[in-house]
Amino acid sequence: GLPAEKYQYQAEVSRLMDLIVNSLYSNKEVFLRELVSNASDALDKLRFLSVTEPDLLKDAVDLDIRIQTDKDNGIITITDTGIGMTRQELVDCLGTIAQSGTAKFLKALKESKDAGADSNLIGQFGVGFYSAFLVSERVEVSTKSPKSDKQYVWEGEANSSSYTIREETDPSKHIPRGTRLTLYLKRDDKGFAHPERIQRLVQNYSQFVSFPIYTWQEKGYTKEVEVDEDPAEAKKDDQDEKTEPKKKKTKTVVEKYWDWELTNETQPLWLRNPKEVTTEEYNEFHKKTFNEYLEPLASSHFTTEGEVEFRSVLYVPSIAPTAKDDIVNPKTKNIRLYVKRVFISDDFDGELFPRYLSFIKGVVDSNDLPLNVSREILQESRIVRIMRKRLVRKAFDMILGITMSENRDDYARFWENFGKHLKLGCIEDRENHKRIAPLLRFFSSQSEEDMISFDEYVENMKPDQKDIYYIAADSVTSAKNAPFLEKLVEKDIEVLFLVDPIDEVAIQNLKSYKEKNFVDISKEDLDLGDKNEEKEKEIKQEFGQTCEWIKKRLGDKVASVQISSRLSTSPCVLASGKFGWSANMERLMKAQTV
Ligand code: ADP
Ligand code: MG
Repeated sequence: GLPAEKYQYQAEVSRLMDLIVNSLYSNKEVFLRELVSNASDALDKLRFLSVTEPDLLKDAVDLDIRIQTDKDNGIITITDTGIGMTRQELVDCLGTIAQSGTAKFLKALKESKDAGADSNLIGQFGVGFYSAFLVSERVEVSTKSPKSDKQYVWEGEANSSSYTIREETDPSKHIPRGTRLTLYLKRDDKGFAHPERIQRLVQNYSQFVSFPIYTWQEKGYTKEVEVDEDPAEAKKDDQDEKTEPKKKKTKTVVEKYWDWELTNETQPLWLRNPKEVTTEEYNEFHKKTFNEYLEPLASSHFTTEGEVEFRSVLYVPSIAPTAKDDIVNPKTKNIRLYVKRVFISDDFDGELFPRYLSFIKGVVDSNDLPLNVSREILQESRIVRIMRKRLVRKAFDMILGITMSENRDDYARFWENFGKHLKLGCIEDRENHKRIAPLLRFFSSQSEEDMISFDEYVENMKPDQKDIYYIAADSVTSAKNAPFLEKLVEKDIEVLFLVDPIDEVAIQNLKSYKEKNFVDISKEDLDLGDKNEEKEKEIKQEFGQTCEWIKKRLGDKVASVQISSRLSTSPCVLASGKFGWSANMERLMKAQTV
């Protein structure tokens, strides 16, 4: 055949390979998880495409992964019957980085350096194909895509800046479809080529892969074989068992042979009975499915029946994945949609969850959607709309569950990471106000350290108090020092402190909670129900001229100057008009126009 062609890696790839090898040195075994997960992805892609093109399956019907070891020579081969790669795809996929897992790894590596995390943590990330070089001297990727009639071999070596691609011309090495990886292990890593070790790693790292993984194992069975009698034994027997009838001598031997052994459990977790799944298994599934390294804050496993049937496992992760201000990116790949167990897509843009809930992770498996569901179908589908409604409800139940957790820190943690998302929900999702409101938390004049809920506020209201009072400010300190607060503090009325810029807009969208209106105490006509009309009239007469004089001096700078009963120790205060913006809103608007 043609000689192998040589290519240079994209510069980032070489750097990434160095990084992987150096930072995962003590956690080399992740290579198997990565390569098996690639095989599983390739099988998913093929299964998905075969729904509309059944012909794709004809070269190899079984969708599986097979791992064989040669311990004498230190070689591992991993073969899948997935989608394979064309020559061009080999160059694009294995010579450049544009892939999710590796990008995430780089980011995590950077962050963990700052935070001083250990390399074991990093091992939890998807680091991708190049992790093969953690243990391999040389890697061969022989692959056959159904799009091409030729099979190609990609070959790379550890510590090299180039790789080669050639056509596979040896017919004995041909595969019908998919990819065969051959790892030639480094001298010190040849121990990975032991069948029992591979078996343990698969069970440990890949138990949630939904395709069968077979490993090549030595097996044995016992059988009885007749043996020639040993003369000495025969003599002894004669003495011991005189009365026993004479019988032929047999011996138990173990016959050894090699065969494929199914090594993982292929029943997807979400199809199992929730009563039989342990918290550890849910946590494990979360880690493996989403390449997460932290335990989730909550999970929910349910089946819905009736109009639309689907099964789902949802999670609330314990940290926001991106910078806190990046909450409007709904394209998180957090929801994996399956139709009849076939993976369809994780590329959603608000179809299954509104964007403010895009931090929820999970799998959803429906029997009611067509297998060849397209993005357009998803967007138009009535079934999807119903699913979305249910999913959102379940997500809120799950979050409410965190508020009831024995560990109070859990909700504090949730709020710190996702409070902003819920506030965004107040603005964007009127329909779910009733579900969002009980989850909100604010500081208050009577609780400056621990945030309180509206329910706690309501509980603490004065018998004749009708409204929920709040003040918006840029910090608890400035809220606390606001002159508007004096009267209320004096009367021992609690006031919520809205110190996050989005708070005020969120609350204004809610309008009320349990029929109690939200009232901004900095607005002009605050009525605390203690008006003394007689006295006010007197004061107005006495100070009317003073007010006019002040207004004249200030001119257009203020709308009006009025006598107020709202203060107890400060002489005067700047208030917002009833229909105007609050001072905080003005600050916000200014900030936005800059
Ligand atoms: P990721 O899996 O996050 O995309 P990897 O580095 O693990 O990143 O893999 C890079 C790409 O190489 C994959 O996206 C895929 O396109 C291709 N690839 C790797 N292994 C296989 C395989 N067994 N079959 C088909 N394609 C593969
Ligand atoms: Mg991968």
